[in-house]
Amino acid sequence: AAKDKGKNSFHLYVPNLEQAVNDKMTIQNELNRALVRQEFLLHYQPQVSAKSGAIVGVEALIRWDHPQRGLLLPDQFISVAEETGLIVPIGEWVLRTACKQNKQWQEQGLMPLRVAVNLSARQFLKQDFTQMVAEILEQTGLAPEYLELEITESSMIDVQRATQALKELKQLGVHVAIDDFGTGYSSLYYLKEFPLNRLKIDRSFVRDMLDQPSNQAIVSTIISMAHHLQLHVIAEGVETKEELAFLQEHLCEEVQGYLFSRPLPSEDVAFYLQAQKGAS
Ligand code: C2E
Ligand code: MG
Ligand code: MG
Ligand code: MG
Repeated sequence: AAKDKGKNSFHLYVPNLEQAVNDKMTIQNELNRALVRQEFLLHYQPQVSAKSGAIVGVEALIRWDHPQRGLLLPDQFISVAEETGLIVPIGEWVLRTACKQNKQWQEQGLMPLRVAVNLSARQFLKQDFTQMVAEILEQTGLAPEYLELEITESSMIDVQRATQALKELKQLGVHVAIDDFGTGYSSLYYLKEFPLNRLKIDRSFVRDMLDQPSNQAIVSTIISMAHHLQLHVIAEGVETKEELAFLQEHLCEEVQGYLFSRPLPSEDVAFYLQAQKGAS
C-alpha cells in the first residue's frame, strides 16, 4: 500500500517497520513455545588459567534450536526476551540447567570447576532472585562456590536493589563477576562498595590490543585496578597467542576466547575435562 503513494514518499520505509514489528511478534510467540518444547540449549566456553592453561571454569551461553531457522545465537532473540519479560523464565531455565550440568560433571568424577551464568538486569533485580538461586542450588545439589553469576553494569542502575542482591548472594556463597567491564556506565565508586569477585575485561579492549596502545593501557589498568581492589580478573575474546602473552605479562589470571576453545556442547566439555584429568 505504501508503494501507491509514490516513490518519493517516506512511507516507502513503512513496510520495513511493519516487517520488523511482525518479526518481533513472531519471535515473541515462538519464544513462549520454545520454553515449553525445550528448544533451548546451553553451550559452554572454557575459562582457562593464564598460568597453567588448565580449564578452571566454563561460561554457559544460551542457544535456540529453532525448528525452522536452525541454531540461533543470543543476539537473535535475547533482546526480545528482555523486552517481553520472557527473559525471567528463560533465565531461570538457564540457571537450573547450568547448575545441574555442573553437578553432573562432578558426579562423573571430573575436576570441579565453576560455571558462569549470564544474567539480564531484569532478572537480577527481581526481589526474589536470591531465593530462586538458593532453591536451584538446593535442588541440584551444586555447592555455591561452583556458581558464578555474570552481571553487567546495566544492573547497577538500581543501586539499592543491586547492593541488596549482591549482599544476599555473597551470604549464599555464590560468586559474582562484572561482565563486559568498561563498556557500560557504572561508576568506579561501586567497585569499592559492591561485594564482587571478578571483573571480565570486555572483548572490545582485548581485540586489536596489540596495534592499539590505548587498548593496551586500558587492559593493563583494569588488571592492576582489579588486583588493588582484591578482585580477580578474566579477559574475554582472546584470539591470538600475542594477546595471551600480553595478558600473562600483566598478570591477568584467567582467559577465555577462541584461542582456547569456542563454546562447546556439554559432551565436548566432558571430553576435554577427561583429557585434562588424564594429563595431570
Ligand atoms: P557475553 O556474556 O559477553 O559472552 C561472550 C560472547 O563472546 C559469546 O557470544 C561468545 O561466544 C563470544 N566469544 C567468546 N570468545 C570469543 C572470541 O575469541 N572471539 C569472538 N569474536 N567472540 C568470542 P554469544 O554466545 O553469541 O553470546 C552473546 C551474548 O549474549 C553474551 O555476551 C551475553 O551477553 C548474552 N547471553 C548469552 N547467554 C545468555 C543467557 O543465558 N542469558 C542472558 N541474559 N544473556 C545471555
Ligand atoms: Mg558473559
Ligand atoms: Mg562478556
Ligand atoms: Mg562482551
